[in-house]
Amino acid sequence: MERCDYLVIGSGLAGLTFALKAAEHGSVTVLTKSEITESNTNWAQGGIAAAVGESDSWELHEEDTLIAGAGLCDPCAVRFLVQQAPEAIEWLQQLGARFDLLGSNELDLGREGGHSRHRIVHHADKTGWEVERAVSEAVRGHKGIRVYENCFVTHLLMNQGRCVGAGALLDEIGQRDFLARATLLATGGCGKLYSNTTNPRVATGDGIALAHSVGAEIRNMEFMQFHPTTLYHPQLSSFLITEAVRGAGGTLRDHTGRRFMYDYDSRLELAPRDVVARAIENQIQKLDTWCVYLDMTHLDVREIQKEFPTIWTKLREIGIEIEKTWIPITPAQHYSCGGVVTDLSGRTTLPGLFASGEVTCTGVHGANRLASNSLLEAMVFSTSAADAVRDEPEPAVERDSIALPKSISESESVRIRHALQRAMSHHVGIFRRTAGLEEVLEKIRGWHEDYEKAPPASFSSYSRECFNLLVTAQLVVSGALARKENVGLHYNADLVQP
Ligand SMILES: Cc1cc2nc3c(=O)[nH]c(=O)nc-3n(C[C@H](O)[C@H](O)[C@H](O)COP(=O)(O)OP(=O)(O)OC[C@H]3O[C@@H](n4cnc5c(N)ncnc54)[C@H](O)[C@@H]3O)c2cc1C
Repeated sequence: MERCDYLVIGSGLAGLTFALKAAEHGSVTVLTKSEITESNTNWAQGGIAAAVGESDSWELHEEDTLIAGAGLCDPCAVRFLVQQAPEAIEWLQQLGARFDLLGSNELDLGREGGHSRHRIVHHADKTGWEVERAVSEAVRGHKGIRVYENCFVTHLLMNQGRCVGAGALLDEIGQRDFLARATLLATGGCGKLYSNTTNPRVATGDGIALAHSVGAEIRNMEFMQFHPTTLYHPQLSSFLITEAVRGAGGTLRDHTGRRFMYDYDSRLELAPRDVVARAIENQIQKLDTWCVYLDMTHLDVREIQKEFPTIWTKLREIGIEIEKTWIPITPAQHYSCGGVVTDLSGRTTLPGLFASGEVTCTGVHGANRLASNSLLEAMVFSTSAADAVRDEPEPAVERDSIALPKSISESESVRIRHALQRAMSHHVGIFRRTAGLEEVLEKIRGWHEDYEKAPPASFSSYSRECFNLLVTAQLVVSGALARKENVGLHYNADLVQP
């Protein structure tokens, strides 16, 4: 057993921001299931939204966030987020994060869908990589922070309704319990619920399942965001083409060359994500094709190369010259707007348990996240959580006994995981129907039973992830069935008035 003041589960921007801030007043241990940088954060392209431009204000950022959230945002949480944004950017710069500049120190701000101003602070099209580099280097150089990589958190430790730490399995060491005054869940998203996702392999909803297992409140899981523009390629996994490409003037066309967004929204390609993704999916279904196209051929080649080097190189590797050819694209799962309910200080509904980042439902996204607000959310709420944990009491050493999910063989986990992904993609995507949702819920029940009936096997993180995905899927589907109006990212065709 190990003790620290503050325990962090996850090493993306949420976990590492909290670690750096909390280490100012206590000892911190970070547990992360892969290498430190393996996270959604590392893959973020577009940037971080902050009203730092001359013609911008937090009021405008607030208004855009509320509009994108389709009436379901928590206004207090949104105001808190947008007011802290400039400070969060400054903090990252002080840590050494390099953002694109105009001249010597004016930030070069990009524009993305749903934003009424240029306000996206970025490092070309690999902002997440740069941000994760800066925070992980600072964490590694900090004497008060201990990091365990390849350390899979299996359960939360509870004492009479209070979270007192977590149990984890460490490579080459085995099971270990970590006791702490406060535990921060920062485990990111759950993209692996779907066959097509922009998320990396670690996004398996572990934090949602961990929080659910101890009774923390979870909300809004039906609001699953699909990114409108990911590369369509039959042999490659979904590769994101950042929204900033449309912000720079990229247009959407169907195979005949028609700019079909004229049929859907006056904001055209820069409408909020839910609107653009639904339009693309509708167009794909209507035309019975696999994809539509993103056209950058009219843009300045040198600008494209400078602003989007990652996309330029990746597409060239597979033979697409974006200055000459339209990019085939299709929507893919991208972000979970729902999650573990927290207040402005990152407190969950359970004492001792805090949460931050994509695993949470802070209220800032409502029914649909505004582009580039999530890296910001991770920093802002981790900062306030790091302040709030100061007052947490010493943890009790005694722990409640809990029943852990059993492990099953890898081959059985592979079967269940793939079947779940197919069902979720088919019935719980951009367009849903009640019968399809009910069918998936029934299937999830069946897979849970398969789990119970399967012969026990030694622990494997893959098998546990599969269990966590089942728990998370159940919450997404039940949320979708319970939501009786089409709003933001939730669209059930059966709810449409004839
Ligand atoms: C391709 C892509 C592009 C994006 N672009 C943008 C953008 O431009 N702007 C923006 O604002 N947002 C963007 N996003 C979203 C944003 O990157 C994420 O929402 C954000 O980084 C989440 O940060 P996080 O710290 O909450 O989680 P993550 O960065 O995902 O970190 C989660 C951590 O938890 C660890 N973990 C998970 N389960 C366990 C477990 N059981 N035990 C131990 N460790 C565990 C993981 O290994 C990982 O280290 C993008 C996302 C993707 C995938």
